[in-house]
Amino acid sequence: MMEIITSIGEMKTWSRRIRDEGKVIGLTPTMGCLHEGHLSLIKASITECDSTVVSIFVNPTQFGPDEDLGSYPRTLEADKEVLRSADIDVLFLPTKEDLYPDGFQSFVEVDNKTKYLCGKSRPGFFRGVTTIVLKLFNIVNPDTAFFGEKDRQQLEVIRTMVRDLNLNVTVTGKPIVREDDGLAMSSRNRYLSEEGRLSARSLSQALETAQTSIEQGERSTETIRNKIRQMIEKRNGTEVDYISVCDPEDFSEHKEIRSKTLIALAVRVGNARLIDNRIVERT
Ligand code: AMP
Repeated sequence: MMEIITSIGEMKTWSRRIRDEGKVIGLTPTMGCLHEGHLSLIKASITECDSTVVSIFVNPTQFGPDEDLGSYPRTLEADKEVLRSADIDVLFLPTKEDLYPDGFQSFVEVDNKTKYLCGKSRPGFFRGVTTIVLKLFNIVNPDTAFFGEKDRQQLEVIRTMVRDLNLNVTVTGKPIVREDDGLAMSSRNRYLSEEGRLSARSLSQALETAQTSIEQGERSTETIRNKIRQMIEKRNGTEVDYISVCDPEDFSEHKEIRSKTLIALAVRVGNARLIDNRIVERT
């Protein structure tokens, strides 16, 4: 039976009791509007841990003033049903007032890795993410936390925070779950019009083409970036935010393709800002 906990104190008490029973706790933090991508993390938690907690919280501190905090899709009743069927132990639904009471002024920040990609185009985003994730870790006290490779920079930034601050949690990353036509699943796909939905396919298609080029011997990162840009910009309603061909761990860019390369994209399609990425190993 899934328990719904809204109070921070009750969540801490639950966690202490479960740990005292010698059980391993898995946490999947989400912002709700759940889809198969979230479910893959939740299923991994159920398989790998004794007790599974899923949190739903649309975290205001990670949204910029001109971003979609107000319109972010909220589908709580449907999410509850999905989580009940998945048979998780606790749905943690903290309130904004409890997490960020008046006078709140403490943030945690990861330095270099947040200067690139989404960190560059969304100032303050990672500061909000690391702060809420650290708070959730402190409240839920999980043994393992599950994150998607869809947000690869976020995953790396969280791994860095956990290492640098000696947190007692194992961070597990899981592969991107995609629609049949390759589009990475995202709560923000709901913003897409019919035409936008078709244009959105160009992200994964461009990543695949880039991979093929590298496998066929292309070594110039600039050529790869240009090829991706062309493929995306020829589709209606797309506006590239960034295309990066970079190191998968520190996100630095180089002229030549190295043995392991991350290709990461952020593209605006109508009202939706979509991200996708792929790691390519040179053969
Ligand atoms: P969100 O609710 O968008 O904050 O995402 C919560 C978690 O689900 C994050 O760790 C995301 O990386 C992960 N996630 C979102 N979409 C996908 C996807 N298509 N495949 C795998 N994981 C995902």
